Formats: sequence, C-alpha cells, structure tokens
Amino acid sequence: MRFLLVALLAACASRVPIEGPDAARLRPLVEAGQREVVAYFGAPFAAPYEVRVFADRAALDAHLRVLWNDPSVKTECWMVGMGAAAELVLLAPSSWKQAACEHDARDEVALARLVTHELVHVYHSQRNPSLEAGTEEIQGLAWFVEGLAVVVSGQLDEERLAAARAGTVPAKLADFWSGPNRYGLSGSVVRYLEARYGRAKLASLLSAPSPAAFFAALGLDDTSLLSRWREHAKMPP
Ligand SMILES: [Zn+2]
Repeated sequence: MRFLLVALLAACASRVPIEGPDAARLRPLVEAGQREVVAYFGAPFAAPYEVRVFADRAALDAHLRVLWNDPSVKTECWMVGMGAAAELVLLAPSSWKQAACEHDARDEVALARLVTHELVHVYHSQRNPSLEAGTEEIQGLAWFVEGLAVVVSGQLDEERLAAARAGTVPAKLADFWSGPNRYGLSGSVVRYLEARYGRAKLASLLSAPSPAAFFAALGLDDTSLLSRWREHAKMPP
C-alpha cells in the first residue's frame, strides 16, 4: 500500500503542468516528446518546467514581453512555440489557422515534432545559463542550438536535406541558421557531429557558453568542422 502511494506521488510529481487551451491534445505530445529528449541525451531534465498555451497571438506576445523583459516584442506569423528553462510556450494549435502561417495544425506528426523541438530548447536552456539569458556570444552557436532541436525532434527529413544540398552553403558556420535552408543546413552539421562523436559528446557540449568554449571542448575549429561536414554530407564543392 505504501509503495503504491509513493509510486502515485512520483507519477503526479513528474506530470508536466499544462495551462491554457488545447491541453488535452498537447499532453500526450509533451509526454512523448519529453521521453524522446531524455532518451536522446541519456539524462533527465535538470529542473521542472511548465507548458503555457496562449489562445491568440496578442496573448502570446503579451506573455513574451514580460518573459523577455522587452515591451517591443511582436512575434512573426511563423513563430508558434518557444522553449526556455522553466517553460514551453505555445500558440494554441486551434488558433493557427487564423493566427499563424507556415504551420498546419491538422498535421499531427509536424505538431509532435514541433513540441519536441521546443522541449530540446527547454532541456538545453536548463543546462546552459547563457542560452537562457540569450547572450550575444551564444548567438554564434544558433546553428548548434537549432540544429540539435531539428535532429532530436525528427524535423531533419530528406526533403530538408535535399533542399540544403541544392542551395547555397554560407561561408561561415555562424550563418547556417539563416535563410530558407536553415533547418537542413544546421541539422545536417549536428547529424554529422552525432555520427562522428556520439550523443554523449553532444550532451557534454550543451553547456558551452560561447563558440570558443564549444570548439575547444570539441577539439576542432569551425573551419575544420565545416570541411569535414562538407565531405561527410557529400555537399557539392
Ligand atoms: Zn528552435
């Protein structure tokens, strides 16, 4: 009896709070996404977090203005989710038809991947105060932050890889998370790192506060990484 009670308490304690619309639809996606992220990195989330869902873009922006302490925040129509250390913020999928572009809430697989993508940011932010603070230095690792979320969530599909291969490759890794092929480019570099160094190494790089710290821990500079990736990904010269 006592064991059952303890087990029940543990189950309740690990239940992620979800506040706002579409909670019933999102709960299984959040729970599955959390399991995927934990399995990928081989360690639990470092802290509890909650999911906050907003009924429309005005409510989402109002929340982000407070969260980021920036009264000028006005999100673009494609922006429907955000992950920080203590919360996963979402625009309610039931409002996407009116309030968002480039997303189809009827696509259950894409929605599940999007939730997992943001959960990778939550996980990463819990292990990296610079990412949580949004420092200027961490911007230089946007390709890693986003590429990792793209890979772990399953968003790096053949279509995105093919588009990246067919497009122009930026001269600097720091510019990979930009332009229409940012998912394919950034994700592809992270996939190379995963294949070459393994997931445990990727997990150890989560805390790097700057590109300098990242490449020192990797034991490779950005130029060498770029040329090795080109070879591995069979990018046209
Ligand atoms: Zn992202």
